[in-house]
Amino acid sequence: MAKKELTRRGFLTGAAAAGALTAFGAMTGCAANSGTTDSGQKVEQGGEAKTGWSWDTPPEPVADGDIVETVEADIVIVGAGISGVTAACRASELGASVAVVEKMSFPSSRGGHYAAYQSKAMTAAGMMNDPKDQIVADWLRFSGDRNKEELAWLFINRSSEVMDWLDDLSGDELSIIPIYTHYAGPQYYEHIGTHVIRGEFADNENKINAPVYFMWKKAEENGATFYFDAPAQQLLVEDGKVTGVIAEASDGYKKFAARKAVILATGDISGDTEMIEAYGDPLGLKPAVNAYTPAGANTGDGQKMGMWAGGHMQEYPVPTMIHLIRYCGLCFGFMYVNTEGKRFMNEDTWIQAKSIRVMEQPGGEYAWSVFDANWQKDVAASIPIAGGQFWDDMSRTTAEWTPDSATKVIEGALESGNAVKADTLEELAAAMGVDEKTFLAEVENYNALYAAGEDTQFHKRAELLTEIKQPPFYALKFGPSLLAMPGGLDVNERLQVLGEDDEPIEGLYAVGNASGGRYAVDYPVFINGNSHGSAMTWGYVAAENIVNG
Ligand SMILES: Cc1cc2nc3c(=O)[nH]c(=O)nc-3n(C[C@H](O)[C@H](O)[C@H](O)COP(=O)(O)OP(=O)(O)OC[C@H]3O[C@@H](n4cnc5c(N)ncnc54)[C@H](O)[C@@H]3O)c2cc1C
Repeated sequence: MAKKELTRRGFLTGAAAAGALTAFGAMTGCAANSGTTDSGQKVEQGGEAKTGWSWDTPPEPVADGDIVETVEADIVIVGAGISGVTAACRASELGASVAVVEKMSFPSSRGGHYAAYQSKAMTAAGMMNDPKDQIVADWLRFSGDRNKEELAWLFINRSSEVMDWLDDLSGDELSIIPIYTHYAGPQYYEHIGTHVIRGEFADNENKINAPVYFMWKKAEENGATFYFDAPAQQLLVEDGKVTGVIAEASDGYKKFAARKAVILATGDISGDTEMIEAYGDPLGLKPAVNAYTPAGANTGDGQKMGMWAGGHMQEYPVPTMIHLIRYCGLCFGFMYVNTEGKRFMNEDTWIQAKSIRVMEQPGGEYAWSVFDANWQKDVAASIPIAGGQFWDDMSRTTAEWTPDSATKVIEGALESGNAVKADTLEELAAAMGVDEKTFLAEVENYNALYAAGEDTQFHKRAELLTEIKQPPFYALKFGPSLLAMPGGLDVNERLQVLGEDDEPIEGLYAVGNASGGRYAVDYPVFINGNSHGSAMTWGYVAAENIVNG
């Protein structure tokens, strides 16, 4: 923490010291004042030294003579992920001229859940959200009260407006369907409020999801221009105001002059291990796989550019989003054993806790969920009192759970080797590759706990204990991946990036994972899909704030 505070203070000191210097002069001054020794080493509390971060020294400004083209727009958006395309779509709809610069060859998207508090689609389906204050209280609690409460309220108060706007704008082209999948445990409760968004409007080749594709095309219809394969390199700052962006295209540097503002929508930091080390929960370095696509795009570029312009990162470490998407993609709440055949946890918990427990096991990459022929009846009984992602269907659109989707997932996993099935427990142990003696003892013990009606081993709720007696027996292999580390530049509730003394930097906004303060401690699944839901809300609100003043 001391290291990060020094880093942040360094940038603040640099910006303050800048005075009448030019923007890039100020950034150079920033590095000189950033708490480093003469030899360029970062000084930690207690006198220990660490080599400075690679972004401590901002890049040299691009000379005017090296600019091959200048583009002018009211708003320049950096990044065409979900927050960026939402901002582009809303701003262009409101009449602003918009230029979007994107590092990759197409907009990016992933996953399938989009949260909103009480959308009209939910109301129409008779799904009523829990009270606002209850959800915000959970959000704050899961974040150890280190997140910004005003940002939690921004989501709660504006997200339905954004979802309903997209619903109205897209007409028949998108179907916005609220889903029932949520974990309802005693210690951790996921509220309903997430949706799937389906439509013909999707580019499967480049894996562009329907809402991102729709808003991209709508923004273009409204006159917005997208510049692909044009990674932004630095912001232009004049007298403390951000006035544009320099991006590097294949034919050279391009200047994007922003008449009103620049929005940083560049995504998260988890593609850059140095950024994780500097600003993230160290847990982000642990998963064997980073599932973010397009790989290599999420290197915290917006965060770095924002800091060079005088901004600072959020106060607390950026948390991890780690889900059980590897291997089978399903694990229910049955008995879990590790690669040695040993039970290791109370399986009645939410997905990030399960991910962390698995990572703590030998090998750290996967575990097995073990059950018998009665699984359909057992799962059906568990869904109303537990459930959630990787237990329930990923996107259940019907009030009742049916085994159809899970059966398909299991059949696919049996084919791909991510699940095994056997008529005896000995054969199952062999197929799993676990120690037979350990495994058989665990199953025997688990069955005894079921018979006694009490889990004296890990204290899972008695109603979730099941028997493993009736062949055929199954074991599903499941494991965690890092999805993102959602956090970045400190912003206020108008989504303006905050600089010296937490005052907004004129002309600079940050949205989605490039912005900070939404989350801390852990990515809180208080509503599934809240990272997408808030990214959309932030993009929409930032666009309105800039256009309407
Ligand atoms: C497999 C997977 C599944 C997921 N599923 C869900 C889900 O169901 N629900 C949910 O809420 N969240 C989900 N997430 C997380 C979610 O995708 C992200 O948190 C969210 O998309 C972030 O949106 P964003 O707009 O902030 O950033 P991104 O979507 O990451 O977009 C950032 C864009 O900026 C571009 N960019 C970066 N640097 C530059 C630069 N220098 N110049 C120009 N452009 C740049 C990138 O190329 C990218 O296109 C999932 C993540 C993964 C990996």
